Amino acid sequence: MTLRIGVDVDGVLADFRSAFRATATRVLRREVDERQESPQADDGLVPSDVRRVWQHIANAQNWWMEVEPYEPEQIARFYSLARAGSWEVFFLTRRPPSAGDSVQFQTQWWIERFGFYLPAVLTVPGSRGDVANGLRLDLLLDDQLINCVEVVSATPTKAVLMLRGNDAAARDHAIDRGVGVVSTLSEAVTVIERLHDVLPQRRGRLLRLADWFTGHTEVHTLPQNPRTVRPVPPFKKP
Ligand SMILES: [Mg+2]
Repeated sequence: MTLRIGVDVDGVLADFRSAFRATATRVLRREVDERQESPQADDGLVPSDVRRVWQHIANAQNWWMEVEPYEPEQIARFYSLARAGSWEVFFLTRRPPSAGDSVQFQTQWWIERFGFYLPAVLTVPGSRGDVANGLRLDLLLDDQLINCVEVVSATPTKAVLMLRGNDAAARDHAIDRGVGVVSTLSEAVTVIERLHDVLPQRRGRLLRLADWFTGHTEVHTLPQNPRTVRPVPPFKKP
């Protein structure tokens, strides 16, 4: 059985908030602290400021490459476990375009930089419920409660909310709606490992009976890092 996992990028792997704030500080030429991010705040970013920052991002070359990861070593750990467990992982993002390469390519390059090779990145502006259904996801990992709630209420997909920080009210709110809650990528990857262990049992007996009769077969997998061994065109003439 193949576990199918959807992973949101910003807020889960990538620290978009800090990168946006750093860009806002440069563009607006004043300090922008965290509590000023709300457009409603009197002393914060008003909608016209937010528009200026987004306009700057739209014109910046490969701006998405500037975003820092939260836990880079966990991206590599996730890759190793995904390879070992034959999981199918889809990275999902609604990032608007910046100048330079496509959002998809920038995001693929960025993820691979931390050791998750050949990442499948889907730039999907629409509903996460539709995506979860279309991709037959077993699990969605997302930092937006609204996405998680949409997925658990409209699909059989499980959802895990990435809640960095101590917002007890948001945690309770998510749990009440049947959404799992984690506070780090490390914890999220451990939850996925656990799901990998329990899901086949939940999917009925047939699979286990089939395993019983199949016996042991040796599994051959491709190298851990495809970049070291796989030549790319143009190939040199012998
Ligand atoms: Mg997000």
